[in-house]
Formats: sequence, C-alpha cells, structure tokens
Amino acid sequence: MKDTSKHQGLRNQLSKVLNSKGITNENVLNAIRQIPRHLFIDSSFEDHAYKDKAFPIAAEQTISQPYTVAFQSQTLAILPNDKVLEIGTGSGYQTAILLELKAEVFTIERQRELFKKTSLFLPKLGYNPKRFIFGDGYKGLPDQAPFDKIIVTAGAPFVPKPLLSQLKVGGMLLIPVGGEKQIMTLFIRKSVKEFEKKELGDFAFVPMLEEKN
Ligand code: SAH
Repeated sequence: MKDTSKHQGLRNQLSKVLNSKGITNENVLNAIRQIPRHLFIDSSFEDHAYKDKAFPIAAEQTISQPYTVAFQSQTLAILPNDKVLEIGTGSGYQTAILLELKAEVFTIERQRELFKKTSLFLPKLGYNPKRFIFGDGYKGLPDQAPFDKIIVTAGAPFVPKPLLSQLKVGGMLLIPVGGEKQIMTLFIRKSVKEFEKKELGDFAFVPMLEEKN
C-alpha cells in the first residue's frame, strides 16, 4: 500500500474542486486531503481515485462520489465524540471521513464480502470504528442507541422508522430517499415526538437492499 506526494497533490486538488462545489467545512476538506482514496479501490483503477466520481467496488457496489461523501459529512456537522451510526459501510471511505472527524462510529454492512474486506482493511490504515456490524441497516442498532447522527449511504425506498426512533433529541438522520434517483433528506429530532424535515436535492446512490433470508 503506497501513498506518494503525487497522490497527496491529487487530493489537494480534489479538495479544491469540492470547495468550489460548496464544501466549506475545513475539517471535512482536511479529511479529504488526508485519506488515501486510491487505496479503497482496485489498484488497476488508481487513476480514477481522485476524480469527483463514484466508482465500482466489490459485490456490485460503489464507493460514493467524493462530493456526496463530503456533502453528507458537512450537512451532519460531525463533531468530535459524536456517536454516529453509518448504514452501508461499503468500501469504508465514508467511515474513514467520519473517523477523521473524530466521531465514534458504528457501521453496518449487509453484504458479507464487503463487510469482511472492509473490516480487515480500515484498521490497517489506522481507522478503527467502535464496531463493524454485519447486518441489516433497516433495523438500525437498537442496543447502541441513541445516536447523535445517523448517515445512510444507500438509496432508501422509504424512511425506516427504527432509524428515527434511535436518534437523540437534537440528533439528525441524513438519508437519500427514493428509487432510481433519491432526494437527500435530513430529519432533525426536535423532541421525542417531533421531527423537522428538510429536502436537500437530488442524488443517485445504489439501492438499499432488503434483508436477505
Ligand atoms: N459509504 C460507502 C458507500 C457504499 S454503497 C462508501 O463510501 O464506499 C452502499 C452500501 O450500502 C453498499 O456497500 C451496500 O452493500 C450497503 N447496503 C445496502 N443495503 C443495505 C442494508 N439494508 N443494510 C446495510 N447496508 C446496506
């Protein structure tokens, strides 16, 4: 696993591109400059790593576009020690960003191949979530709830109720909702019973998969 000054230069450029697209949170931009994204994709496609594009990884899944990862991280205003639940570990790139932002991260992946691969890979880079979970994101993680922030990184056909109920009061759920295209939707828990909802534009994620039997 190699990280060179060439890669660092490409990351610095990528952070400028993201800044020009509206990412202004310095901690998020700094995380983009720190994380060797080329190590998260197959080495023969290394050239693609620092373009602002999604890219295929194993099990017909994708590593999200850097802008999307940065947008979700900025919108959730991740603070040090925030207790964060991530649905859709995938390559672990978003997980690494959350960890660079010093959050305490619980991350769920429902495809065994990706779960295995990423739970071995991230610690090698020094990124250690509190827990990697092989399971179904629709259920959230009741035994660790409540969370400050919940981030969903796959397109959800509907908003899973358990995710809303696992937020702290004042907490936020950020979830792309829809079919082929999704609307990035933010829920802020105002009180035990009240949620404020904001729609933040169109995105395109791979679909959130129903639980396997
Ligand atoms: N954050 C990832 C994005 C990966 S794409 C990254 O930066 O690489 C979305 C991921 O969500 C895929 O890995 C997919 O397998 C996973 N996923 C889909 N449905 C899920 C579910 N019901 N529960 C948990 N993970 C799910």
